[in-house]
Amino acid sequence: MSIKDIREGWYNYLKMGFNKKSIAPEFLKEVEKRANICKDCPELYTIPIDLEIVKGMCQKCKCVFPALIFAPNKRCPLGKWSV
Ligand code: SF4
Repeated sequence: MSIKDIREGWYNYLKMGFNKKSIAPEFLKEVEKRANICKDCPELYTIPIDLEIVKGMCQKCKCVFPALIFAPNKRCPLGKWSV
């Protein structure tokens, strides 16, 4: 994951927290699809305590969930989802 992906992922994730309509509806559908796939993936480590904005981490790419699914050009390291 590039610095650009990290920046865009966090930016979109936090922006959506303030205003869900700030994310394009088509991309929001993609984000929801990615979220469902990640939640079922054995590579997703879920943090056992409530840290509000950080829910877990992908053990393959070491990216923070759910910010990782908000980066438009990010790819799943196992190819489970793409753009
Ligand atoms: S990004 Fe891919 S490998 Fe990582 S948790 Fe999501 S589905 Fe699993």
